[in-house]
Amino acid sequence: MRALVIGGGIGGPVAAMALRQAGIEAVVHEAYDRTAEGVGGALSIAPNGLAALAVVGLDDAVRAIGSPITSMAMRSWTGKTLGAFRSDPPQLMVWRADLYRVLHEEAARRGVETLLGKRFVGARSTGGGVVAEFADGTAATGDVLIGADGIRSAVRGVIDPAAPRPRHAGLLGFGARVEHSGLPSTGGRMDLVFGKRAFFGYQVLDDSSGGWFANLPHRTPMTAAEARATDSREWLRVLREAFAGDRVPALAMIDRVAPEDLVVTGSLEDIPSVPVWSRDRVVLIGDAAHATSPSSGQGASLAVESAVELAKCLRDLPYPEAFAAYERLRRARVERIIAMAARTNQDKAAGPVARVFRDLLMPVAMKFAKPDRFTWQFEHRIDWDAPVAA
Ligand SMILES: Cc1cc2nc3c(=O)[nH]c(=O)nc-3n(C[C@H](O)[C@H](O)[C@H](O)COP(=O)(O)OP(=O)(O)OC[C@H]3O[C@@H](n4cnc5c(N)ncnc54)[C@H](O)[C@@H]3O)c2cc1C
Repeated sequence: MRALVIGGGIGGPVAAMALRQAGIEAVVHEAYDRTAEGVGGALSIAPNGLAALAVVGLDDAVRAIGSPITSMAMRSWTGKTLGAFRSDPPQLMVWRADLYRVLHEEAARRGVETLLGKRFVGARSTGGGVVAEFADGTAATGDVLIGADGIRSAVRGVIDPAAPRPRHAGLLGFGARVEHSGLPSTGGRMDLVFGKRAFFGYQVLDDSSGGWFANLPHRTPMTAAEARATDSREWLRVLREAFAGDRVPALAMIDRVAPEDLVVTGSLEDIPSVPVWSRDRVVLIGDAAHATSPSSGQGASLAVESAVELAKCLRDLPYPEAFAAYERLRRARVERIIAMAARTNQDKAAGPVARVFRDLLMPVAMKFAKPDRFTWQFEHRIDWDAPVAA
């Protein structure tokens, strides 16, 4: 069997490696004619994501580029702890550029072919197979086609022209890496601050380096390109103003960032539910099927899980049954996580009145929450050796 993987981001190379492990040949087709090294900000890999990477022998390479997050603390603008939870095993904070690099290096080492400059524009069935058509006029033939082409998936539009579009979460995203924060280590803890006007997450490592991200409430959607049209100096000024009254080290972290190092991502987006995940020989994984906003901290982990789970299904079942089994195994879990992150976004974007209630109610809700309120997401494991039932 030969699989055409569309999209060489995070899910794409992992799918190709998992398919090879399942005895299926896979070639990755990426739209851009250059690699994405050096692009993007921080993202987290949750224990469930690391466990899925371990299934295909990628966990150690990813652990080597990550900083462990052993606990998370939610705080109000006064610095008061609203709630906290431990993560055992730890989550990892990684830079998307580093994650991208190690996955692609490992894919190449294992003989996976990645073709750049192959922007997918359409697919047609040949009866015995599927043909992917690319913007450069070329085509490729395979037995199945896997759309790993992200939140703006073209493959999704081909299998369902009525598929929903990404939804603006009411927030804009920013972030940066800080070489010398001048702040004490947070000791493996990530602090998540519901500030007066915006949300701030940060972590300081033992060597005083660290990273932060900020979510700024914004009513109207803004693409990354639109957000980047505003000078980074201006965004830094806006962020300083947003966190000026908060009694947390947001300003200290922001002040350490040169304008050229600010990562500006535009709208935080999600898609609550993609009704059609597969049609004929074509199937979706990662953000193409289940785009959660970054507030879940699960986007990359879920993409990896789906890549591995789909490879396992294709190993054990012919393609229509494999796609049905894959969706049955994945849909409820990913949509629950997307919905949870959407509720977090509402808390992050709360107005002045809702903010007061949030800060009063959150400690109570956290106190009486079931211990697994957050950690259930982390406990998911894929048993590679167990056969998949039709
Ligand atoms: C350049 C980039 C930077 C990112 N930075 C961050 C970040 O800092 N923080 C964060 O939380 N998330 C970031 N993300 C999103 C994050 O990687 C994903 O949410 C998550 O890892 C799920 O991965 P995915 O493989 O499903 O999608 P993605 O990682 O988005 O990968 C999709 C890939 O498909 C390619 N593609 C798109 N359309 C086509 C097409 N028509 N034909 C062929 N290929 C196509 C894209 O170029 C991309 O390489 C970034 C994504 C990209 C593409």
